[in-house]
Amino acid sequence: MSELAVKDWVKQVIKPDEIDEYLVNGKDFIDEQVINDTLANNQKPEKQQVRDIIQKSLCIERLEPEETAALLHVKDPELWEEMYAAGLEVKRKVYDNRIVFFAPLYCSNLCVNNCAYCGFRYENRDEKRRILTMDEVRQETEAVISEGHKRMIVVFGEHPRSDADYIARTIETIYGVKKKARTGMGEIRRANINAAPMSVADLKKLWNVGIGTYQVFQETYHKATYATVHPEKTLKGNYRWRLYALHRAMEAGIDDLAIGALFGLYDWRFEVMGLLHHAIDLERRFGIGPHTISFPRMTPASGSYLSTNSRYFVNDDDFKKLVTVLRLSAPYTGLIITARERVELRREIIQVGCTQTDASTRIGIGGYTEALKELSNIELRNQEIDKQQFILGDTRRLDDVVRELAEMGMITSFCTAGYRCGRTGDKIMGLLKSCTEGKFCKLNAVLTFREYLDDYASPETKAIGEKLIKQELLQIRDIPFFSKGSLLETFEKMYQDTMKGKRDVYI
Ligand code: SF4
Repeated sequence: MSELAVKDWVKQVIKPDEIDEYLVNGKDFIDEQVINDTLANNQKPEKQQVRDIIQKSLCIERLEPEETAALLHVKDPELWEEMYAAGLEVKRKVYDNRIVFFAPLYCSNLCVNNCAYCGFRYENRDEKRRILTMDEVRQETEAVISEGHKRMIVVFGEHPRSDADYIARTIETIYGVKKKARTGMGEIRRANINAAPMSVADLKKLWNVGIGTYQVFQETYHKATYATVHPEKTLKGNYRWRLYALHRAMEAGIDDLAIGALFGLYDWRFEVMGLLHHAIDLERRFGIGPHTISFPRMTPASGSYLSTNSRYFVNDDDFKKLVTVLRLSAPYTGLIITARERVELRREIIQVGCTQTDASTRIGIGGYTEALKELSNIELRNQEIDKQQFILGDTRRLDDVVRELAEMGMITSFCTAGYRCGRTGDKIMGLLKSCTEGKFCKLNAVLTFREYLDDYASPETKAIGEKLIKQELLQIRDIPFFSKGSLLETFEKMYQDTMKGKRDVYI
C-alpha cells in the first residue's frame, strides 16, 4: 500500500460529529480540575470513614469519586490489609472463586500512530512488520485452541490494512476453526477485540460478525501527558476521538465494553480517578458501565526511551493498592490482570479481586505457531523485543497457571455462556449487581473446567482439578438457590453429559 494511500485513509477516519454529540456544553466528562480537587480534598480520611466506604463496597455499590479519592490516600497499613481482604470478599460475592482465562492474539504490528511507549509505532525502524493472512490466523487459532483456550482477545494495530473489514474477516475466521481435542472438539467461543477507535458505521460491521467485548484503553486520562506521548498529527493524538470510542460502540449496538489505562505514563491516583469517571459516564448515559477494567503497567518496548525511563512508574506496592481501590470502587466490574506481570506478583494481585487473566501468552505476530514449531511444550525461550509490543513477565503455559490457581482454591472458567444467552449489557450488569450472575457462572465454570480436565489437562493438573471440582459439586448441591427449582437437576444432567464427551453445554 502506498504512503499516499495510507495518508488518504488516515484523513477520513475521524468523524468530528461523532465526538461532538457526546460533549456537554462543549466539555468532556474528564474534568481535570474536578479530579485534582477531589484528590486534594480527600487526602486524610478518618479510619471510620474508610471502613464505612469499605462497607458500601461490600454491599456491591459503586463508589463516588470522593470515596475513591479517600481510599487512594489511605496510609495506615492495617486499613490497607482490611481493604485487600474486602477486595477479595467483594470479588467472591459477585464472581465467586472463579477466574476466567483468555489468550491474546496479535494480528498485526502495522500502525499509523507513533505512541512514545510502544514498539509498534511507525517511527520504530527496528520493528519487523507483519500482518497475518487468514491462513495464519487459522494456524494461530489452532495453536491457541490446542492449549485449551475458549476465549481470545484479538489485537490490531491501527492501519488501513487492519481496518474494520480485516478485523471482521479475522473474527469470522477464528470462529470457523475447530480442532480435535482428547475427547471433544476445541474451538474459540468468544473473540473479544482490542482495536483502535472507529466510527459507528465500522463498529456495526464488527457487531454483525459477533465480536465479544470491545476494548479500548485511554492509556492516560491526563490531557497534557496524552498530548506528549501521542503526537498531535497522528490519529491517536486526538484525545476525544479515543475518549468517546466506547460511547460510539454503544450507539453501534456493542454493549460489552472494556476500559483501561496504561499505568506509568502519569500519576496512578489520577488515572484511577479517570477510569472511575469513564465508568460513571458510560453508566449515566447508557445505563451500563464497562464490563472490565484493565490496568497494564508500562514495560520495556523496542526503541522506546520512555518505556524504561518514565518518572511515573508504579511500584509493586502501589500497583496492589490501585488494583484494590479499583476493585472496591467498581465492585461489579471485571478486573483483568495480564501476563505482563511477574509470576509472584500476578499471584498476589489475583487475590485482591481480579476476575480474568491470560496464560500461554505469545504476543509476537505469529507467535503461537512459532512457539509450537520451536518449543513444542516448554516456556517461551526468548522474547523477541523487535517482534512484540512489550515484554511479558509470565510466560507459563495455561496448564501451569490453571494448576496453581486450583491449588489456591480458585476454579478456572472457560465459560462464554453469558454472552450467548444474552446476559450482556444492562442484563449482565443487573445480574452482577445482585450477585446472581456469579451463581450461573459457578455452574458453567464447573462444566467448562470438566471439559478442560478431560481434553487438555496434564495428569498433575487433572489430579488437583478433580479434588477442586468435587468440592465445587458439594457446594452446588448445598446452595438453596440451585436446589429450589429444576436448576440443580438440569445442571447434574449437563455435568453427566460433559463427562460422557458432550461439549459446550451451558446454563
Ligand atoms: S500503542 Fe497502539 S496505536 Fe500506539 S503505536 Fe502502539 S499499536 Fe499503534
